[in-house]
Amino acid sequence: MIYSTKTLKMAVMGDPIDHSLSPFMHGAIIEKHGYDALYIPVRVAPDETERFAETAAYMGFCGFNATMPHKIRLLDSVDQLDEKASLYRAVNTVRIRDGVLTGSNTDVDGLMAALDGRGIRPDGQKIMIIGAGGVAGALIRGFSAAGAASVTVLNRTLSSAEKAVDGIRGAFARQMTLEHLSETAAGSDIIINCTPLGMTGVEDDFRDLTFLDDTRAFVVDLIYNPWQTRFLQYAEKKGLQTMNGLPMLIHQGLLSFQLFTDYSLDIDEEYKYLYELCKERLHC
Ligand code: NAP
Repeated sequence: MIYSTKTLKMAVMGDPIDHSLSPFMHGAIIEKHGYDALYIPVRVAPDETERFAETAAYMGFCGFNATMPHKIRLLDSVDQLDEKASLYRAVNTVRIRDGVLTGSNTDVDGLMAALDGRGIRPDGQKIMIIGAGGVAGALIRGFSAAGAASVTVLNRTLSSAEKAVDGIRGAFARQMTLEHLSETAAGSDIIINCTPLGMTGVEDDFRDLTFLDDTRAFVVDLIYNPWQTRFLQYAEKKGLQTMNGLPMLIHQGLLSFQLFTDYSLDIDEEYKYLYELCKERLHC
């Protein structure tokens, strides 16, 4: 590929960033359509969010994705927030036009599209979220706005869960103990792991998964590497319906790509294309 000043420049920034599947995914779309565009991974230290955002604008990038630990910091490092980023209080997508950075969020719509693909609608559902970090915070607001009956957040650090649910109607915080996990799981319709527990390269994992013994919930892990975490394996053995993090990752990526480039994609077609490619890439 020969690049020019017209080439659309995009990136994903984070720390760590090596594990990210986004460059592969966006690169595959660029290659498939022959777009004059590039998408690169950039390792950006936690305290360099603003510096990267300014540099991307200066270098004429049309946008970039953000992953850990920049999603919250970007709220203050962009020029404006769109409706989604304002509502979900996290930025995973930044669109740049004429040097103006607009923060957006495609994580929540990405998960909602992934659930929809499995015939699941969040309205009226009791949601259990494990973890209270950046992505959990956005999902709590997303499920609440989508009309969930309740959103219960269980976290290792109770104060973070309390902060995450603060001011959100129908959202509750609990300490992440086996007793609370079991009690909440039994009354939930959808359970989502929003922690890195069980992820490749992370030593920690759920010590006891018996909290899934008495639930009939649809079980989601936002992790896609490994393809099936112990958490999902256990749920599946119990006969529960499960979904890993890949459908969400692909949907959020396609939404971001459209925001960066203004290209209109056939989402169903591109989703199927990327799902098979990514699955193969993850050696499944
Ligand atoms: P984050 O902001 O760093 O939050 C991590 C959360 O996990 C915190 O609540 C933290 O609890 C908890 N946690 C970390 N280590 C733990 C441990 N050893 N035991 C118990 N709890 C622990 O991360 P994030 O951005 O929200 O991302 C969370 C996960 O979602 C990651 O695995 C990420 O890869 C995945 N993700 C997937 C997608 C996708 O498209 N599939 C999109 C975004 C994120 P404390 O508050 O106690 O520290």
